[in-house]
Amino acid sequence: MSRLVIVSNRVGIPDGTARAGGLEVAIRPALKKSGGVWFGWSGKVTDDTPEPAKTVVKEDVAYVTVDLQKDDYEEFYNGFANRVLWPILHYRLDLAEFNRRDLSGYFRVNEFFADNLASVLRPDDVIWVHDYHLMPLARALRERGHKNKIGFFIHIPFPPPEFLTALPNHERLIPALGHYDLVGFQTETDANNFSRYLSTEINLRRLGNDSFEYDGRVVRAGVFPVGVETEAFAKLARRAMDTPFVRDVVESLSGRAMIIGVDRLDYSKGIPDRMNAFERFLTNFPDWHNAVTYLQITPRSRSDIQEYADIARQVGETVGRINGNFGEASWTPLRYINKAHSRTALAGLYRAARVGLVTPLRDGMNLVAKEYVAAQDPDDPGVLVLSRFAGAARECTAALLVNPYDHEGVAIAIDRALSMSLRERRQRHAVNYKALLQNDLSQWAERFLETLDQPPVTVRQSIRAAICR
Ligand code: UDP
Repeated sequence: MSRLVIVSNRVGIPDGTARAGGLEVAIRPALKKSGGVWFGWSGKVTDDTPEPAKTVVKEDVAYVTVDLQKDDYEEFYNGFANRVLWPILHYRLDLAEFNRRDLSGYFRVNEFFADNLASVLRPDDVIWVHDYHLMPLARALRERGHKNKIGFFIHIPFPPPEFLTALPNHERLIPALGHYDLVGFQTETDANNFSRYLSTEINLRRLGNDSFEYDGRVVRAGVFPVGVETEAFAKLARRAMDTPFVRDVVESLSGRAMIIGVDRLDYSKGIPDRMNAFERFLTNFPDWHNAVTYLQITPRSRSDIQEYADIARQVGETVGRINGNFGEASWTPLRYINKAHSRTALAGLYRAARVGLVTPLRDGMNLVAKEYVAAQDPDDPGVLVLSRFAGAARECTAALLVNPYDHEGVAIAIDRALSMSLRERRQRHAVNYKALLQNDLSQWAERFLETLDQPPVTVRQSIRAAICR
């Protein structure tokens, strides 16, 4: 059995206290089984030349980390990854702030990762690289002579070529994905966008539905939607209802129905649009005044980037306006909180909420939507109102699907969710819950690694097959 080497920007070293994140939960069984390695940035930034990679071994897994120099951090992480790739891949060309220095910092850090990985790699290791920070890593490894199987999974959206080509130097970056054996996406749409880029922008020969010839090798595209640990989350939510925190929140509602939103403070999440839709709901459906409370939990993220400071100000102003116009001495329609909450606290709040309001303008998947479904009481479930532009909408087809730009449409969906009969709520929840079970997080890594392991059709065989078809 080959050893598995995971590469991601940040590494989830277990410290015995914090609960594992989604990626960690998904890949740890595979890592343990193969006595694997997890490689990435330590999260430390240094003014000096970084020290050699450090290794910590825990439960049969070697965690290998490197520090980043200040310039690298600024150009690679804050610069190109978060100020250019993040907005462009979320269809926000208007927010991308491209400059050549950040682009070269991005390539430089990918080379640095490849150099440090080289000392760890064995010829038969299977390498699985994660996310938009490391798109050119396979090319850097191939240039250093590594012939390993290398897979890549992008957790965020992958837009159509018409957006990708707005990225200066896209022809240096996007085709570099062709050096992977398998490129995994959250949805069919993302995978199709990739295939369309390869066939229309760089004229790659298509060998089958999802495979292309690139540089004498075969690159495949696949769809592997990330899931949640459905049953474990449902159990967590049941237990969380008995915690003092959740009991206090429920009591504070004084019998009002709760609508919940949980998002990092990021422009992709559509928080101002959502609040405007809630304002429209209060205007158009006055019967709900004093009968509903919208709780929006929004931990700040990437605060040192201007666009994030702008959205923080915009959201703060909107909250003030809504509460000022509609609130009463005894009723605050919108509670807005910037603190991060534990998974247990969230699980209980989801279960206590009549409506889960998840309306990103664009999202690779959106795990909050899936967690909301998993947390519901199947006998008396709440209703998920979900943006059609979240990857989760492909699986949670029984949610009330909305266009987040259409504030009036979202307002109508909120009213419909709050007024929905128990019978319809149960039916919709059962459909969504079943979809989550069918694509549980526990199977995700296995599916990707099995596909990566399938022998690639050799280029010549594939060409022959394509000709005979
Ligand atoms: N989350 C959390 N505490 C918070 C807010 C969010 O633990 O205060 C978790 C949430 O439960 C979910 C993840 O952060 O598992 C967010 O994932 P999602 O895909 O919805 O959005 P992302 O932030 O990855 O874009």
